[in-house]
Amino acid sequence: MTPCASTSTRRAGQGIAFVIGATALVILLVRGGEQWLRSLLLYLSGAPWARRMVTGFAPAWAVAGRFVAGESVDEAIDAAHQLNAEGMSVAIDFLGESVTTATEADDARDQLLLLVDRMRGAQVEGYVSIKLSQLGLNLGENLALQNLRAILEAARAANVRVRIDMEESATVDMTLDIYRRLRNGEGFDNVGVVIQSYLYRSEEDVKKLVAEGAWVRLVKGAYREPAAVAYADKRDTDAAYMRLVQMLLSEDALANGVELAVATHDEAMILQTMAYARTRGIASDRFEFQMLYGIRRERQRELAAQGWRMRVYVPYGTAWYPYFMRRLAERPANLWFFVSSLFKK
Ligand SMILES: Cc1cc2nc3c(=O)[nH]c(=O)nc-3n(C[C@H](O)[C@H](O)[C@H](O)COP(=O)(O)OP(=O)(O)OC[C@H]3O[C@@H](n4cnc5c(N)ncnc54)[C@H](O)[C@@H]3O)c2cc1C
Repeated sequence: MTPCASTSTRRAGQGIAFVIGATALVILLVRGGEQWLRSLLLYLSGAPWARRMVTGFAPAWAVAGRFVAGESVDEAIDAAHQLNAEGMSVAIDFLGESVTTATEADDARDQLLLLVDRMRGAQVEGYVSIKLSQLGLNLGENLALQNLRAILEAARAANVRVRIDMEESATVDMTLDIYRRLRNGEGFDNVGVVIQSYLYRSEEDVKKLVAEGAWVRLVKGAYREPAAVAYADKRDTDAAYMRLVQMLLSEDALANGVELAVATHDEAMILQTMAYARTRGIASDRFEFQMLYGIRRERQRELAAQGWRMRVYVPYGTAWYPYFMRRLAERPANLWFFVSSLFKK
């Protein structure tokens, strides 16, 4: 982030901060306002005009930097080493998504190949997380498949695993198809997927993944989805989350070699997973907890110190805007922090 905000960029940034802040205040005052605010922020996360304004405004990085390890691969490796030293493993994510040309997709692939190489050289305890839209999924399934295959080949040689993040619901079928073609069809056993508990379809998807002995990260889901495909109410998403945890820790799942990552900051989900494992006699090393870089840091350390397997998702790169906006959408308190910091000199 080049901190060279001109006066007009600063004014534009303050303008958008004011509009977001005022709108947020108004909608929080009405019933169900938090849900509206979340939708607004998720809409802004995909709006090019908002991205231009926010990313062109240097102080925004000061806040976004809380959730992002840095711009360069070196900074990501440093953050990973620090976390490793504290007993936590990592999932490193080179930020970027929804590329619009094949050249951009190829560039992203090359950056990810560099990351794999650096992780091997630096002996990082961790794996790589990727988004298929970064590798060209929206331009064609084959382009993303080829790019991912190249990464998986290099990663296998480097003894590094690769997790495919899950994005908007419209891409779930294509994502699972690419995952299965590479894992089941071509024998890449170093690739895993993500399931989102807010989607109605996830129970059916998990049944198949359990039968296949997959490597699954379970999340609640971070995108703006219509009620036709996803639960709107947090209570429904949470209940679905715990149903899916139980399916992914079932006897069949464990016998088939399923590896579950319980990726959440929600204390209730964490405690319920621990309690479920305890009552079923499931050893704590049969699954792991995951959280995002910069969120609930103390709890991350505490879980690791108590002997739970803990992994931190470490994003880096210059394309931080959509990732950052999704983190704001998850917690209104982050939004106040962001808006007020934009007005500080
Ligand atoms: C390791 C990891 C990988 C992920 N990968 C994906 C993916 O591939 N696809 C996808 O759709 N989503 C992904 N997500 C995001 C996920 O879907 C949720 O949007 C996000 O984790 C917030 O949900 P929650 O489970 O933490 O619970 P919530 O119910 O949202 O939050 C519970 C509590 O956690 C704390 N909290 C949650 N979010 C924040 C925040 N941003 N800042 C501060 N505190 C917070 C708050 O105290 C909050 O009350 C990932 C999340 C993690 C942890």
